[in-house]
Amino acid sequence: MTVKEVTVGIDIGGTNTVFGFIDERGDEIGGGHFPTYADEPPEQLIRRLADAIKSGFMSLEDDQCQLTGIGIGAPNANFHTGTVEHPPNFDWEVVNVVDLMKRHFDLPVVITNDANAAALGEMLYGGAGGMKDFIQITLGTGLGSGLVVDGRIVFGHDGFAGEMGHLTVDPKSDRRCGCGKYGCLETWASATGVARTARQLLEERSDDSLMRLTPRNELTSKGVFLAAEKGDALAREVFEITGSVLGMKLADAVMMLSPEAIFFFGGLARAGSLLLDPARRSMEANLLPIFRGKVRLEVSRLQDRNVAVLGAAALIQSTLRGNA
Ligand SMILES: [Zn+2]
Repeated sequence: MTVKEVTVGIDIGGTNTVFGFIDERGDEIGGGHFPTYADEPPEQLIRRLADAIKSGFMSLEDDQCQLTGIGIGAPNANFHTGTVEHPPNFDWEVVNVVDLMKRHFDLPVVITNDANAAALGEMLYGGAGGMKDFIQITLGTGLGSGLVVDGRIVFGHDGFAGEMGHLTVDPKSDRRCGCGKYGCLETWASATGVARTARQLLEERSDDSLMRLTPRNELTSKGVFLAAEKGDALAREVFEITGSVLGMKLADAVMMLSPEAIFFFGGLARAGSLLLDPARRSMEANLLPIFRGKVRLEVSRLQDRNVAVLGAAALIQSTLRGNA
């Protein structure tokens, strides 16, 4: 009987921690989730996680599985040092999550931030198979990005490369970003950015709009999307503005890295062509002619799967293959 090699992918989030056992083909064969309790000491979270992984592994149906390594995705995680540094929404300072995990397992353990993990997931199991140069953008509450150059994630000298969400669009803007700066890309191109643009348009303009049926402070990007899908002109304009700002910064990234494609993942990526068509137009308009018409913008092929867990598993799998 052949032994089946399995890795664990873990996604440590501010609210929930999720893990999955991933086989070599990228299929999830088991897993679990529980609340993170981000105000607890990190040792306690890692102990609960280790216990859950051990009992989850024991209960896998295929008893020929062998655990070969552990990959972790977490906010502000540093691949080089194994640490998570001042993650937003946690009462943690600098915590060496890799060392904590190794107290419980005699296995290789690696960590990176969730956006890099998503890019690796796209490369191993999604639409970027065989690509050596691409960008993966996660459009959630904020904007995360993972850059792949020559088949490798760009971690950078200090381990934090690829923070496209905080590229400056307009330093004079009154849009304050969660990072403290003004006018960062994610204050437009994110779920919260879309809601913000919608509120601004509704205030400045008197056009009729379905969006006016929702109290302004309760308007979400999903509400804007549903209105736009019904043909609401003002809601469509919100996506035009969002796409146009996004495309401008995509052009900057393309001119630096010359990727083959840019993949979009996350709730806002579900807007599909409503967002990607204006983003493409704006990107093309801002590119040097030598780059035009060459970069594909696509919705992630992992959109309906647990990309954070898959990506963390992809990180340890590529590390085991000497590829990360
Ligand atoms: Zn910022």
